Amino acid sequence: MNLETLLDKEEFTKDDIVTLLNVKNEREINVLYKKAESIREKYFRDEIHLRGIIEFSNYCRQECLYCGLRKSNKIIERFRMTKNEILKVAKVIYESGIKTIVLQSGEDPFYTAKIIAEIVEEIKSKFDVAITLSVGERPFTDYDLWRSVGADRYLLKHETANKKLYNKIHPYQNYDNKIKHLKYLKAIGFQIGSGNIIGLPNQTYEDIADDIILCNSLDVDMASFSPFIHADNTPFDNVKNCELRLLLNTMAVARIVLKNVHIPATTALATLDEEGREKGILAGANVIMPSFTPSPYRKDYLIYKDKKCITENPQLCLPCLNIRLLSVGVKASFSKGDSLKITC
Ligand code: SAM
Ligand code: SF4
Repeated sequence: MNLETLLDKEEFTKDDIVTLLNVKNEREINVLYKKAESIREKYFRDEIHLRGIIEFSNYCRQECLYCGLRKSNKIIERFRMTKNEILKVAKVIYESGIKTIVLQSGEDPFYTAKIIAEIVEEIKSKFDVAITLSVGERPFTDYDLWRSVGADRYLLKHETANKKLYNKIHPYQNYDNKIKHLKYLKAIGFQIGSGNIIGLPNQTYEDIADDIILCNSLDVDMASFSPFIHADNTPFDNVKNCELRLLLNTMAVARIVLKNVHIPATTALATLDEEGREKGILAGANVIMPSFTPSPYRKDYLIYKDKKCITENPQLCLPCLNIRLLSVGVKASFSKGDSLKITC
């Protein structure tokens, strides 16, 4: 079957997905990305949703082998933002016109369910925004509480759908449990985000196809595909970074298979390539998550090496982003950008 005929299918098998991930020649890559772009335009027109992210703590109790924030990394300087500091940044995000605030951290039990609930409640009472939480795996009762006070979305990546690989690179976590958490979050009404890291040691194209299929079967509202970028002082600090081509192919194939889900062009992609975000949009992405984490903390949220935009003033990010978006024929949307799967 030639590429054009394959792309005309409505449903894709795992073999189809592996074939599409493998596309390598320039003409075929062009056809693949154009198809992804046309699907993005069908659902989101020329609008790119912005999510302002506050990375409020880099303490973590986990030991994910790939991540610079893992507990045993004693080299990075740890920080925790106070509730007032978080609220102040939330105000800056709201006043910039962005209507989604993402609260992200390492898995840090210092922030009890009650503290996070209070932060969510206070932001929601002051500003008309959607809130995404991305604070790792927590007891189901925590999720219940946060949902009850108005948190809208939860980002918890499955990282890899290869169960053996997952269990190997997450010493204190378990694949089946992660999936249970994602299903629970969806069941209690969160818009959920999942996704993978691409370029993990021993990961295959079949694994990446399974990641896309898993996102489909979990009925995710957002799917994030990030390139692996090595972090100093971790067990993977000698593993080479993800290849840009494979990452962009994955995003394009995910857009074609998952159709109306939100797909971000991540900061990791911008770190991998100076024009990574623009290339991501041209491969089907429709979301960008500018960081509003203030100095002096921003430089210490070092998930991986040479992270992009760690020194810039957050307020300068938006004009820079706008220029980048216009250069690829799209514009920033200042709506909340809820899931298109929500019908009410
Ligand atoms: N602790 C929460 C969690 O793990 O869900 C949220 C914060 S964690 C830093 C956010 C994401 O960073 C993870 O889901 C993972 O995909 C990504 N990440 C961590 N280390 C990375 C690396 N070396 N390269 C690319 N992405 C990485
Ligand atoms: Fe902690 Fe999240 Fe990094 Fe894992 S990916 S070490 S849970 S911050």
